[in-house]
Amino acid sequence: MHPDGTPCPCGSRGCLQTYASLEAILGGDPVPAGTTPDATATARADAGDPATLAALDTAGTALGIALSGMLNILDIDTVLLGGSFALLSSWLTANVRTQIDRRVHTAAWAPITVRPALLGPDAAVIGAALTSIDQIRQRPAAWLVDEPLDVVPKP
Ligand SMILES: [Zn+2]
Repeated sequence: MHPDGTPCPCGSRGCLQTYASLEAILGGDPVPAGTTPDATATARADAGDPATLAALDTAGTALGIALSGMLNILDIDTVLLGGSFALLSSWLTANVRTQIDRRVHTAAWAPITVRPALLGPDAAVIGAALTSIDQIRQRPAAWLVDEPLDVVPKP
């Protein structure tokens, strides 16, 4: 995003995650016990916390800029905000939309849909569970004799 930007945990500087990760949105504040980072960010945004709202404003703009570059290369017509971004989409989507409309060369003729992913932050876990269930469905006898499932699909 910015070659001379904020140092990133990856060792580089100014990466998208320095602007659009939950850590960036929470401003480095610790997450209270008994809750999760995405629930904390959502609660702070719902309460109108100015620092969280400003961070979400920045995150949405950064996401929109990063996505615009990908959309110009890949010609995709729909963006799903998944994971924590699905929970925070109410505060992110307007800035994502603004950047896409401004930066994607074909957006005026081929509008790009931006919406939260339906499965929200649990999408990866649900996908892993469905993969295992599908393997059992395809080879029920192997499951009955206690053979290990192929968790990682074979190439
Ligand atoms: Zn990085």
